[in-house]
Amino acid sequence: MPSQPARLSKSRYLSGLQCHKQLWWRVHEPEAPELAPSPGQQNLFAQGHDVGERARQHVPGGELIDLPFYQHDNMVAATREALKHEAPAVYEAWFLADDTYVGVDILERTPRGYGVIEVKASNSYKPEHLPDAAVQVHVLRRAGLAVERAEVMHLNPQCRYPDLSNLFIREDVTALVEGALIGVPDELAAQRAMLAGALPDVPIGEHCTRPYDCPFIERCWPKTPDHHVSRLYRIDRKRALELEADGFATIYDLPSDLELSVIHARQVKAVQSGRMVVEPTLTKALAQFGSPLAFLDFETVSLAIPRWPGCRPWQQVPVQFSVHAEERGGGFAHHQWIAGGPDDPRPALAEALVEACAGARKIVAYYASFERECIRQLREVVPRLAKELERIERRLVDLLPTIRNHVYHPDFGGGFSLKKTLPALVPGLSYSDLRVQDGEVATVELQRLMLRGAELPAGERAALREDLLRYCERDTWAMVKLLEKLRSLVADQLDLF
Ligand code: SF4
Repeated sequence: MPSQPARLSKSRYLSGLQCHKQLWWRVHEPEAPELAPSPGQQNLFAQGHDVGERARQHVPGGELIDLPFYQHDNMVAATREALKHEAPAVYEAWFLADDTYVGVDILERTPRGYGVIEVKASNSYKPEHLPDAAVQVHVLRRAGLAVERAEVMHLNPQCRYPDLSNLFIREDVTALVEGALIGVPDELAAQRAMLAGALPDVPIGEHCTRPYDCPFIERCWPKTPDHHVSRLYRIDRKRALELEADGFATIYDLPSDLELSVIHARQVKAVQSGRMVVEPTLTKALAQFGSPLAFLDFETVSLAIPRWPGCRPWQQVPVQFSVHAEERGGGFAHHQWIAGGPDDPRPALAEALVEACAGARKIVAYYASFERECIRQLREVVPRLAKELERIERRLVDLLPTIRNHVYHPDFGGGFSLKKTLPALVPGLSYSDLRVQDGEVATVELQRLMLRGAELPAGERAALREDLLRYCERDTWAMVKLLEKLRSLVADQLDLF
């Protein structure tokens, strides 16, 4: 059992503010597998780092404390030295007071002291940014600095490439921080005392997912049984807890006179009977899928700092597609396109897309509003193809609501994503044989291929490209097989299981 209080840091303080138990594990089990960042989190860190660097250009002339992040004491000493100079700002300034380290993204000189600028790679100010700024101001004041202002500097959703002069918005949060400072010393003391003891007993609750998903949820939350009421499609947490408190822990327990939405009623019927439910209305819903069909799926990247014309921070930009197009003589032709480098991929992608969809009467997508948004973006960026792209948009039909509103299989598990519906309706076809198996990894790997592909060995680059092509192709082939299955259900008009 630990006996010495551990030193705190800004990130530890924020973790402890969410939950003491989480902080205890972070400090005493730093190698816990739950703390390994996912590819998506690594991507966010990397983009956040780029945003931090870019932000310095908007507060120019500063001195950077450029030391490895683990050399805290050296960074504190280097910051002290830097403050003796006349530079208007210090970037990555580090301080230690109250047994707590804090790093300040940008410390700006003000007429009578200093301003703390916390840089955030988000498109808006969020309440969870406040304690972050508050603990910095607390530690800096304890270290003897006259901090008279606190700001959050975040990305500006109105900014459009190539004009990045307004990439950031600086929000003055001084008054809010002054109010939030009151509780900081007590909380720091409480965290230090807690860390010196055994693992605290903290009950699970709303704080486990707010403001961030806790990495230790699997450890703390009890395993729920199959078809737990929380698996009812899009049920809000409060309602699920109410049902559980009323004695209905699983969908099997729900009484027949309970008032339910149409989709929930279908789900309950399917789960309680152990059979897939197919509504007679499916026949009519399938009439919109008139051949020849093309099945379309886009993959996108999302960059904090935009780099192509008209793009805003974090805009989802289509950089890859797969199309399976029905051929008149039977069978399918497969078309695909993927960006090969850092240039704006949209003009070439739009051209290939128009060609791939030519001749299709309807274009099938899964959650078509996403494909619609991508096509609208292409229309703006490639005006010479605007008419053809508009025709593609007009021909879009959505397979997702066709399933959601007419079919429920007990194995859907309360969701209608392709990853849920495909293995249930088309056994044997899934993503498990692919190296890229989900959209989050696809986005990260697409960014790697496009922006850093030139640095990769040729073999690795070719393999990465192939993995991404196979993933997107699987999405459109999944739609082909799902529609085939739905048509067979209508033909049989049976509840199959
Ligand atoms: S799951 Fe909840 S209770 Fe457990 S450590 Fe995380 S936040 Fe704390």
